[in-house]
Amino acid sequence: MDDDLNCREAVRLMSVALERILTEAETSLLQRHLSDCLDCRNFEVQVKFIHRAASRFRSGE
Ligand SMILES: [Zn+2]
Repeated sequence: MDDDLNCREAVRLMSVALERILTEAETSLLQRHLSDCLDCRNFEVQVKFIHRAASRFRSGE
């Protein structure tokens, strides 16, 4: 569990982050992966965009 994340784990953590706050350990693992991985950075942008759009829809704004 002290190793770097692979992309699959990074994606899983990003989806977990939409459901709950990540622990510090999870956040630092994810950030370290994102700093090295352009694919996952691009994915994160999409996830955040979709999540923002979804929460705006839920709150009725
Ligand atoms: Zn990746």
